[in-house]
Amino acid sequence: MLAEREAAKYPFLREGINLLEGLDLQLEELAGPAYSKVVDRAKERVIEAILNGETSSRFVDPQTELLSYPIAVMYVTLISEQFLNRRFSLSEAVRAYSLLQKEDEDRILDIALNEFDWDIKEDPETIDGEIMNLKLSFSDYLRLAAGFHEPKWKLVNRKMENGYIALTDKESARLMQVEVEKWVNERVSTPSNFPLPLPLQTRLDEIKKVFEENRSKLGGSALPDEVINEAFPPCINYCLEGLMAGRRASHMERFALTTFLVNIGMPIEQMVSFYTEVTDFDESKTRYQIEHIAGLKGNRTKYTPPTCNTLRTHRVCRNPDRICDRINHPLSYYRRKIWGMQRRAEEEATRQAEKESEPSNTAKQK
Ligand code: SF4
Repeated sequence: MLAEREAAKYPFLREGINLLEGLDLQLEELAGPAYSKVVDRAKERVIEAILNGETSSRFVDPQTELLSYPIAVMYVTLISEQFLNRRFSLSEAVRAYSLLQKEDEDRILDIALNEFDWDIKEDPETIDGEIMNLKLSFSDYLRLAAGFHEPKWKLVNRKMENGYIALTDKESARLMQVEVEKWVNERVSTPSNFPLPLPLQTRLDEIKKVFEENRSKLGGSALPDEVINEAFPPCINYCLEGLMAGRRASHMERFALTTFLVNIGMPIEQMVSFYTEVTDFDESKTRYQIEHIAGLKGNRTKYTPPTCNTLRTHRVCRNPDRICDRINHPLSYYRRKIWGMQRRAEEEATRQAEKESEPSNTAKQK
């Protein structure tokens, strides 16, 4: 029973995976009334991810909680939308983080060592009044904390001794959130496509409806047809400004800029004339490279911009702002900013309409 509860808390534990495999449930069984609570909870997990960005934890009935996880994963793979994959992975990881924060260092150590193979050890010390119970190897720390912007995660602000970084229990749990997100994302990233029994299909349709109704406000909508310069992320502005100022752009800067412009729908002609106007690039070479990136030449692959992590590593991530804290890809930044701009425009239009519909003071006096 304890194992089941633990597995319900952390679906990534080997113990839980073994428990589930042992049950060997088939879709037809899951569609029966005996499992209606489970499939409802699975639906709820995905909807919570869409609406709240965090999955709740329900342990009154650990078996339902445990079984609902793989079904929720199945729903996400059947919808097969990258944006939902990321949102679901993050929501499940945030759920794990809130549970891990309540664990003692022995449990965190146990999970880190046995489930994620971290090079971590118990070695308590107090630094600036904080108890740091655990020490994580430099390489694991770098890998896991690379996406964090807060100053406290920067290496210069950490104590490192013999290749190990001291961590509080809470910090270790936060790093584990990154690991869980990656783990879940790997499991939802392969799309699936198979028919479902009606009771399961009905729930899937409900999830799809909620997803479609909310995706644009969450920043996962298709990109607009016209290019909105004001919504460019700081890294892309940095690349653009550099080009215009005649700075020699690195390969990564040019790749990030071109892939970004291609993906937001800037016409090839416009890009070619922009590049050749502001630089001394050769027109035919520039055209070929842009068309190659756009998937019109060569191996016919349309390239997407690198992630924020990669751009950070190559020092192209410059002047990140508040939107950057909530995204991990320049295209997500663009979508989110456009959504914010549209929302503000709609609010302004509503305010204006309300003002115009009010009777004027003069009219009132009449
Ligand atoms: S966080 Fe991402 S979107 Fe923001 S500036 Fe850095 S690379 Fe660009």
